[in-house]
Amino acid sequence: MIRASERAMGIEYAIRDVVLPARELEKKGIKVIRLNIGDPGKFDFQPPEHMRDAYCKAIQDGHNYYGPSEGIPELREAIVERERKKNGVDIAPDDVRVTAAVTEALQFIFGALLNPGDNILVPSPSYPPYVGLVRFYGGIANEYLTVEENGWQPDIDDMRKKINDRTKAIAVINPNNPTGALYEKKTIKEMLDLAGEYDLPVISDEIYDLMTYDGKHVSPGSLTKDVPVIVMNGMSKVYFATGWRLGYFYYVDPENRLAEVKEAIDKMARIRLCPNTPAQFAAVAGLTGPMDYLDEYMAKLRERRDYIYKRLNEIPGISTTKPQGAFYIFPRIEERSKWKSDKDFVLDALHEAHVLFVHGSGFGYAGEWHFRAVFLPPVEILEEAMNNFEAFMRKRLSG
Ligand code: PLP
Repeated sequence: MIRASERAMGIEYAIRDVVLPARELEKKGIKVIRLNIGDPGKFDFQPPEHMRDAYCKAIQDGHNYYGPSEGIPELREAIVERERKKNGVDIAPDDVRVTAAVTEALQFIFGALLNPGDNILVPSPSYPPYVGLVRFYGGIANEYLTVEENGWQPDIDDMRKKINDRTKAIAVINPNNPTGALYEKKTIKEMLDLAGEYDLPVISDEIYDLMTYDGKHVSPGSLTKDVPVIVMNGMSKVYFATGWRLGYFYYVDPENRLAEVKEAIDKMARIRLCPNTPAQFAAVAGLTGPMDYLDEYMAKLRERRDYIYKRLNEIPGISTTKPQGAFYIFPRIEERSKWKSDKDFVLDALHEAHVLFVHGSGFGYAGEWHFRAVFLPPVEILEEAMNNFEAFMRKRLSG
């Protein structure tokens, strides 16, 4: 047998791993309600018309060539303007890099920062590629706690305890996947102070920045004085274009402390040639065009959030915090005696209730005995899912 690399074989991605048993059920003709993947395009959400038109036009107009590795100038300008308006950051197009979505930005940043044995502070629970990609690049995902009782805010004391001499950066995901937490300004400030104390850059994932319900997102990029911040964002969530694979990141680095890292990132960017060219023209339309579609979409998401939050809290053995951003809810399994683990629970719910969740431990150790559900589907579908799930829980808890 020809052996694969340990690096690649070690990769796990809980969100897609649970799909295999769901497919087995579907092959037998059983309908499964999938609440596992955070893809708005699978439900009643599409990128706005002006973006779709711009994508088609770019192709028709012949923008089908390789573009610059760092992204087309029109888009980098549009990103500067968007981020200046949203975060008040004083950046120039030269601080911006366009990528095949945030996922590629993570590859560049981790690839450029990590030598084997180095670590990056990542939230626990966190979006799984943070752990997977840090490991892929030879690093250690050094998980800091976020605290459920405190609305899943990061525990700054725990962060401090986890920093060591091989720590290369602090990563923050806000609004958070999987918890739906929106971090307080005070927390962001404390995190920046900590980063400054240990001379660490902050990596800020802001892919859900305009998807908030009750508060507003605060970026570390808008608050930093001298701590280097790398802000990542893209077209997948707020612009509903997951399949286009387009995103960006930029440096807020007044003292140019990231000079060498930037050079390393540019080397990585060059060997992958360039991001998708026509999609970049569509992104310009998205960033400079009207945003009224977002109000309509957020109203739908709010209704779905309120519905699932209420239903889940009425189910015996389950309790949950209320998401303040994104489209995920992360309930706690209070009654644990019937299952060996949260994964066992999720598989049992799949086989009995035909609802697919993702086990919380797939998001890191602080996610144990939780599960993640997306609330993207319309209320009728959520209602069916919750009815099935409630019946399942009542049966299990009485058995
Ligand atoms: N970051 C977070 C926190 C996410 O939840 C996701 C997708 O679910 C991504 C990044 C992936 O984004 P992209 O589609 O831009 O690669």
